[in-house]
Amino acid sequence: MTGSAGFAPDVPAPDEVTAPWWEATREHRLLLQTCARCARVQHPPRALCVHCGSDEPDWSASGGRGAVDSFTVVHRAPRPDLAVPYVIARVRLAEGAVLLTRLQEREPDAWRIGDPVRVAWADLADGRALPVFVPDAAPAPAARPPHDTEKGS
Ligand SMILES: [Zn+2]
Repeated sequence: MTGSAGFAPDVPAPDEVTAPWWEATREHRLLLQTCARCARVQHPPRALCVHCGSDEPDWSASGGRGAVDSFTVVHRAPRPDLAVPYVIARVRLAEGAVLLTRLQEREPDAWRIGDPVRVAWADLADGRALPVFVPDAAPAPAARPPHDTEKGS
């Protein structure tokens, strides 16, 4: 359902800091680091809070909804096994964190900055998964639980 044909990116191995984040992707859960001291979120995971320097970054689940912050359409594959065109984007989540990701399930040239998106998952061969984003027809989230199990669209 993820439409990830040809999507075989080079993915880094988990390390001490990123292991919890990667483990959650196996269950298609998107985690964000949330600082225990200043309560702000950050991504990607780091050992220290980038906002206040606290060494107590905690984890919280993202609702998986956001908007396209910027994007670019890749027409020339950096590797021969990648299918083009595809869309690389910065997505700003409702929680405030920004992810570098891919946009899928819409013609590459049809995307616009500000488009609402929701997370989907591209499964990797080792059981982990990468968050990608697809068009979100629903209105802006209002403290609703994430639709982890519903795929109706
Ligand atoms: Zn902090």
